[in-house]
Amino acid sequence: MNYRHIYHAGNFADVLKHLVLSRLIVYLQQKDKAFRVLDTHAGIGLYDLSCEEAQKTGEWLEGIGKVIDAEMPAKVAEIMAPYLDAVKALNPGRDAGGPLQRYPGSPKLARDLFRPQDRLSAMELHPEDSRVLARLFEGDFQVRVTELDGWLTLNAHLPPKEKRGIVLVDPPFEKEGEYERLVDGLAKAHRRFANGVYCLWYPIKKGAPIKEFHEALQALEIPKMLCAELHVKSDRDQTGLSGTGLVIVNPPFTLKDEMHLVLPELKRLMAQDRYASHRCFWLRGED
Ligand code: SAM
Repeated sequence: MNYRHIYHAGNFADVLKHLVLSRLIVYLQQKDKAFRVLDTHAGIGLYDLSCEEAQKTGEWLEGIGKVIDAEMPAKVAEIMAPYLDAVKALNPGRDAGGPLQRYPGSPKLARDLFRPQDRLSAMELHPEDSRVLARLFEGDFQVRVTELDGWLTLNAHLPPKEKRGIVLVDPPFEKEGEYERLVDGLAKAHRRFANGVYCLWYPIKKGAPIKEFHEALQALEIPKMLCAELHVKSDRDQTGLSGTGLVIVNPPFTLKDEMHLVLPELKRLMAQDRYASHRCFWLRGED
């Protein structure tokens, strides 16, 4: 396990993923009933953007760094507000002109958006990262951190006892076969928890089997599956990712319209060359 998210925290892929996570949470909060977020690959929860690793790649400068203070149309700002306000709340020093220093990972963002009745189960397999995450939430009865293979929880921990929830699957893609694993994982999880909201992340770069991945998802015949992608540069540029994708199962009915407003703005702010693009479409259902 070599992957360390600190090198990538706050990059363009995190911005889209965390924005969507915030929209899913805000939507579920329209009803009083409690829900659970199951974060299968949780990371350490809070990232110091001034540390050596984050400074070395500087990826956050091309991501959250471009978005945090950007002027946006009012409707887009409204959609982005829960996410951006959570990032700003972690950086009070910025009011005095200080830099952006702390960035929330998915478990921290989810927790910061919770009401008293909402719950988080966070899985992290890396022993050291899991300890750091557990320390972050020490004494917090709304959060349970477990050092465990997140793929197993797609079988074992579903459905959550609240019977409402969001399952975020955000693997590091260090190994071959992660796209297939995502499809298999979703198939298993959906059999146990069909009305759950799922958010699956995948990387986009030259040669990635995106078409095959989408076709395999379509073959699962899960009724409602939305796809959102942001490509920040041409895939001929093979340094790092050229784009980021999310598949959202059982999305809020508002999400596609929100994505159509927000994606052009994210492209404008985070494009790295003139080939940047975006798309949002139903893999299955609606339309
Ligand atoms: N979801 C996090 C966020 O948005 O802030 C980022 C997660 S990062 C992309 C992937 C994480 O999964 C890493 O921290 C890695 O240590 C962890 N990991 C790798 N394999 C895992 C597994 N089988 N089960 C759980 N965690 C795993």
